[in-house]
Amino acid sequence: MIIVGAGLSGLLTAWRCLDVNPDLSIEIIEASDRIAGDHTWSFNLTDVAENLRDWIKPFIAYRWDSYDVKFPKRERTLDIVYCTGNSDTLRACVQPHIESGRLKLRLKTSVETLGPDHVVLKGGEKLRAKCVLDARGFEPNDDVFLGYQKFVGHVIKTKTPHGLKRPIIMDATVEQLGGYRFVYCLPYSETELLVEDTYYTDGPELRSQVVDARIKDYIRDRLGVDHYELVRREKGVLPITLAVDETYGTDVSMEKTEAVRLGMTGGYYHAVTGYSLPEAVKSANVVCDMIAKHKPDFGPAVRHEMAYHRVDHYHEEKFLRLLNRMLFRAAKPERRYAVLERFYGLSEGIVERFYRNRLSKKDKLRILSGKPPVPVTKALYNFSEKAFISRESSKRDSAQ
Ligand SMILES: Cc1cc2nc3c(=O)[nH]c(=O)nc-3n(C[C@H](O)[C@H](O)[C@H](O)COP(=O)(O)OP(=O)(O)OC[C@H]3O[C@@H](n4cnc5c(N)ncnc54)[C@H](O)[C@@H]3O)c2cc1C
Repeated sequence: MIIVGAGLSGLLTAWRCLDVNPDLSIEIIEASDRIAGDHTWSFNLTDVAENLRDWIKPFIAYRWDSYDVKFPKRERTLDIVYCTGNSDTLRACVQPHIESGRLKLRLKTSVETLGPDHVVLKGGEKLRAKCVLDARGFEPNDDVFLGYQKFVGHVIKTKTPHGLKRPIIMDATVEQLGGYRFVYCLPYSETELLVEDTYYTDGPELRSQVVDARIKDYIRDRLGVDHYELVRREKGVLPITLAVDETYGTDVSMEKTEAVRLGMTGGYYHAVTGYSLPEAVKSANVVCDMIAKHKPDFGPAVRHEMAYHRVDHYHEEKFLRLLNRMLFRAAKPERRYAVLERFYGLSEGIVERFYRNRLSKKDKLRILSGKPPVPVTKALYNFSEKAFISRESSKRDSAQ
């Protein structure tokens, strides 16, 4: 098997498949000079299926038993286990397979084109495999309509203990600027802290220097920390899916013509948060199961199962896309926080199932019922995904 892209989804899939299938070998092709990049990836432990929680443990670098959210009219602690893994722990997870020779790395090598059973490298060399997995990261697509989550994060080392006992997943008591804005804080240790300033806005532009200054203000004014050193900075622009064209979302014919997609390039992220770790774990396990059941000629089974996995994902995210349309199109930008403020008044079970994308019909009704935090006429106008796509496509056509 060949995997293109040694990022989160490519490496999690390699790790899972090699752990479970002792006869398998994988070649992973990565454009940069090292695997796993320089990242942190956070998730609720309950986002990961129970039978995979023990397996994912070595990836977890930090774990907290609860976290806080803060809004102008609501503060709450949720007893949901929150975890963070990073590039070092991900590299350590695959290291035994690299040492055994079953995971071969080709670094500083860019793949130009790829198909279900072959890749062509920049320079023209063609490699064949039983199955090719495309894990090259996010690519925009005309059939997918987006808003954006943008952020800048500072990891700081404080001179004295900063005093934060657990993560603040959303502090939306900050000034709302151009969309839903919140600050996210992860206390890695008594003196190490990630502080991230996040914006849910319509466009992908990020004025990161302006945001840097706001983070400094937050650290000084809200956390009361004056003396610290900046040890790492990260920034990101993540897609938030408002609508997906149904013909594209349910197309299974790609299994014949394209490599199997993993991670962000396959649209495998939570529509509301843009986070992809839980979906990457899920897909890794689907690929792994198909290899275990159909070896040695597992290629067709992996392609077939993943084609339907993609369609399932399209259907499972329908409700989340509706919520995004309410957030981005029904709510006024400066009032978007009210949608989340109301959501965090619901039961912990609903919050957990929302992030895991396992909401029941009753949960969905509970989320939509009661006094809406957005104007009803605007909510109804944006309800139908099909009508939304038709309007957005016309707008896009007339702008071109
Ligand atoms: C700053 C930041 C923070 C994030 N935090 C979280 C988080 O806390 N939790 C979470 O769940 N999600 C998070 N995400 C979102 C998402 O999970 C990550 O972007 C994740 O890394 C996506 O995984 P991936 O495998 O799809 O792509 P990537 O991890 O980006 O990997 C793609 C890999 O493919 C390689 N590549 C690309 N093109 C080629 C080519 N032509 N040939 C060979 N190699 C190629 C790239 O060099 C890269 O190594 C974050 C994203 C960002 C940007």
